[in-house]
Amino acid sequence: MADQALWFAFKGDWLLVFENGPVRVPFADELNLDITFRWEIGDLDGHTCWAVETGSEAPEGMVFRDLRSFFFGVDETFFRKAGRAKQIVGWHATHRYCGRCGGKTEPATGELAKRCTRCGMMHYPRLSPAAIVLVRNGEKILLARSPGFPPGLYSVLAGFVEPGESIEEAVGREVREEVGIEVTNVRYFGSQPWPFPNSLMIGFTADYAGGELIPEPGEIEDAGWYGADELPEIPVRVPARISIARAMIDDFVEQHGLDPEDLKTPQ
Ligand SMILES: [Zn+2]
Repeated sequence: MADQALWFAFKGDWLLVFENGPVRVPFADELNLDITFRWEIGDLDGHTCWAVETGSEAPEGMVFRDLRSFFFGVDETFFRKAGRAKQIVGWHATHRYCGRCGGKTEPATGELAKRCTRCGMMHYPRLSPAAIVLVRNGEKILLARSPGFPPGLYSVLAGFVEPGESIEEAVGREVREEVGIEVTNVRYFGSQPWPFPNSLMIGFTADYAGGELIPEPGEIEDAGWYGADELPEIPVRVPARISIARAMIDDFVEQHGLDPEDLKTPQ
């Protein structure tokens, strides 16, 4: 039934899925939901997919779940599609009215945009680019923990790009602000959409260029240099295929002849 449409239906930030078995979203004709918005978001396994906003309660046998709970339960393609749907539904929910004049917005034709019915201003989904950087110092990498992390957890540094700033400048500023050191040789690693709520994580590696590690009060509670065989607890709860931070650390570990699988703890 290749023409059946899949519904990525959100209530707030949570996605409607079947309660039991592998994570699965419903086909449109499997249920009767009260739909307040929908937008086509491409294909998955030959099925057309829709981002859907609903105010309905979960039907029998289904639940609304946070996408974070899927990190280990779904493949990356599904996670990406669900993340795209989440961001589009979230954009719809926060752009019912124009930010300039307060007029009602309506869908624009032919593009992912809304037009203000009063002043004509166009409103597009907001993306927030963030720089994430793995800093190397010889055979060691910089890992730090923010006060909001789960106990014991360390990761690479990250921060949002500010207006007027290049992504490379954001890397240098974030590292300087958060731990007080300078970096050089900023090189692109890869990028990843991160739908919590609308980031695009842009990953870099960089080399230590000077200064002493001084964690920024309130932002970073500890930072240090770690070799591949002496890593503290890193984001093992988030697989590399889902988290670019984890992918960067795994890459470093592999370059030192170790197996990232050894870092992973059972769920
Ligand atoms: Zn307006």
